[in-house]
Amino acid sequence: MSTKYIFVTGGVTSSLGKGIICASLGRLLVARGLRVTIQKLDPYINVDPGTMNPYEHGEVYVTDDGAETDLDLGHYERFLDVKTSQDNNVTTGRIYYDVITKERRGEYLGKTVQVIPHITDEIKSHVLRLGQSGEYDVVITEVGGTVGDIESLPYIEAMRQLRYDVGRKNTLSIHLTLVPYLAAAGELKTKPTQHSVRTLSESGLNPDILVCRSEYELDSSIRNKIAQFCNVENEDVIASLDAESIYEVPLLMQKEGLDQRVIQKLDLPSKNPDLERWIEFVNRIKHPEKTTKIALVGKYVEHHDAYKSIVEALIHGGAMNNAGVNIKWVQSDDLTEENVAAELGDVKGILVAPGFGGRGIEGKLAAVKFARESKIPMLGICLGMQCAVIEYARNCAGMEKANSTEFDEETPFPVIDYMPEQREVEDKGGTMRLGKYDCSLVEGTQAHQAYGEDLIEERHRHRFELNNELRKKLVDAGLTISGVNPERNLVEIIEIEDHPWFVGVQFHPELRSTVYDPHPLFVSFVNAVLENSEVTAKAAL
Ligand code: GLN
Repeated sequence: MSTKYIFVTGGVTSSLGKGIICASLGRLLVARGLRVTIQKLDPYINVDPGTMNPYEHGEVYVTDDGAETDLDLGHYERFLDVKTSQDNNVTTGRIYYDVITKERRGEYLGKTVQVIPHITDEIKSHVLRLGQSGEYDVVITEVGGTVGDIESLPYIEAMRQLRYDVGRKNTLSIHLTLVPYLAAAGELKTKPTQHSVRTLSESGLNPDILVCRSEYELDSSIRNKIAQFCNVENEDVIASLDAESIYEVPLLMQKEGLDQRVIQKLDLPSKNPDLERWIEFVNRIKHPEKTTKIALVGKYVEHHDAYKSIVEALIHGGAMNNAGVNIKWVQSDDLTEENVAAELGDVKGILVAPGFGGRGIEGKLAAVKFARESKIPMLGICLGMQCAVIEYARNCAGMEKANSTEFDEETPFPVIDYMPEQREVEDKGGTMRLGKYDCSLVEGTQAHQAYGEDLIEERHRHRFELNNELRKKLVDAGLTISGVNPERNLVEIIEIEDHPWFVGVQFHPELRSTVYDPHPLFVSFVNAVLENSEVTAKAAL
């Protein structure tokens, strides 16, 4: 069977949840026994989102191969349980960078280099690369942005050409649009969808299926109208109503027959979808036996997307424990040693988040100290782990003014310091310790117990490390090193003894948590949080 290509575009407005629709369709096709990957094409000039502020872009999702990518790739992995890589996320910046690099090398043999064909060819080669790998039956390509944007045009043109290059029967165009409800008219309105489809069609890419986001059920007259005006059959008008949880969307899409239509139109071999585990997971998160509250301490908390994978990993970890996790978003800038007990007194667990730069650090240190002293389960991730080390150095190892050189270059105890190879690096993009590295775990530790393994692999994104020159001093003062990178002897996990659960990890476990494979550290953390709730409930009796 030749690889099938599905192009997903969006219209009317951004934020319709194209990534979730792609991930949901992907899940449904995987559940039917097909091998699927999803790719995101982003129309901005940054080479990757790695240099973007979390307020601009939300979380930067890091893949095993160390690519800094769009957060939608996190959804793809969480829904499909299929790993993504650099090939799954391409930006206009990268396309131009590659084309200009080739031009400088003289690879275009004296030709005038133009948007068509050179930029569009480069886009097509990125789509085809996934198909030609032979690993997938279906490649879903999500085109970022909204139809009608100037910057989306080369992508739409590339998709139009691809339909002919690989044969129309091997491609499918899905368009996600909005059907708004106008309260004044008391009606759902189809005109924005009509306009959006017209704009897309003017570029030569006719949609085969329309997925219509709406706050209300689409009745048959609305469906007929959309079908008629947009040149699709009634069954190809798929309603996508707001869902309580993103994990319900695959089930809603199945009910609407999206996967069925895709299978028919692409003539894909298919068995009945096996969604038993998925349904069980959705039931668990919708009807948890108990709930608990965990504080997420970070400096971007007004912007929840900055912590997307952490939030999802907490949901996965909760589901494994039959528990719902409510997050209390705590702005680290506002935390002090004086108010920390009042701010965090009502939570049963504390997660100190990753981050860059000095803002909010003293607040994070106060949160760590409170968790350590009050014996509240704590998970510190990346910068959160570094804060745990700094706090321990200052308050338990007699290293006054200990710090990371990221925040204080003059500190007498640089317990967190630049990795030697980072000192000379001036470029910011793609220059961190990125991607998957080994970590060997020490028996008898919380980490070892959580993973139940001796050697694990986790993804990284940081410039600083626990300083090996001060490691002995910290260990002598009682800090436990429970995970180390074997090749370079870098500390990956720290813990403290005499505490129910206190773990700091230099890597990002949240990036590897999926619905079918919840991350063991999050499962173990939520479990400890629930036990802590029981202890405090008993004490209150
Ligand atoms: N700023 C820290 C470093 O670069 C931590 C990074 C992070 O939390 N991702 O090492």
